[in-house]
Amino acid sequence: MAGLLTRFAPSPTGYLHLGHVISALHARDHAGPDGYRVRIEDIDPVRCLPLYTQALLDDLAWLGLLPPAPIRRQSEHFPSYHLVLTRLKERRLLYPCGCTRQEVADASHGYAPDGSRIYPGTCRDHGPPEGRPLVWRLDMGRALAEIGGEPGWVETGKGRIGSEAAAFGDVVLARRDTGVSYHLCVTHDDALENIDLVTRGMDLFPVTSVHRVLQLLLGYPEPVYAHHPLILGADGRKLSKRTGAEAIRGLRAQGLSAREVRALACRALEESQAQTDYSVG
Ligand code: GLU
Repeated sequence: MAGLLTRFAPSPTGYLHLGHVISALHARDHAGPDGYRVRIEDIDPVRCLPLYTQALLDDLAWLGLLPPAPIRRQSEHFPSYHLVLTRLKERRLLYPCGCTRQEVADASHGYAPDGSRIYPGTCRDHGPPEGRPLVWRLDMGRALAEIGGEPGWVETGKGRIGSEAAAFGDVVLARRDTGVSYHLCVTHDDALENIDLVTRGMDLFPVTSVHRVLQLLLGYPEPVYAHHPLILGADGRKLSKRTGAEAIRGLRAQGLSAREVRALACRALEESQAQTDYSVG
């Protein structure tokens, strides 16, 4: 797999933890020579703090997982994301929506594969209500018609698999608060940075369907994907600040070496997998 460009794209909403270490190792180990990139996904100014970005970069450097290549920070590129949105609006692939979260929940008929409520299509059919702050949604039916149906993707180790973009319905591409969205920015940046192997956790496997649709709409190249298994917390869910993920800072302060912390992350992943195998078997 020589020559591949991969990325580790954390959102600085807390300190780096063992789950992040697995993602960074996965990206680095799949990259070709000089092909490992780090991107800071900090479009949400409320949840993403500069303090965490700095700590994250510092911990990555200490772990030996900070590449020499320049680091893209999404918060510095809002104008380019707005240009992409304009292109999609001009093609009538987006529409404004003023529904509140509660209104969506009340009228929704089900859940998308990522657990979000499927938008019932109110503003697509009737236009947005007056005087409400707006989000912009992708008209998924129109988008799929334009690209000729579900695109699928190539998953490392599995080959070509089917996508389920229709099951997401009309996803938000421009949020009320930030004016952009994860789906939009990640798809744009992966193309811009020439990422040809998207490496990330299994929790993001479902949303790949949406990203593939956007890639086709925008004429971006098709990357291959390699989703890695997750370290699970005691509650059986993805490790996070809330589920007691131990911050790398703390392990450093206890005197562990970078090599020991990397090994700890790999061991925690093995244990999680053994636990999952046991519970399904
Ligand atoms: N920024 C996302 C996160 O921290 C990951 C995005 C991706 O790898 O596609 O969950």
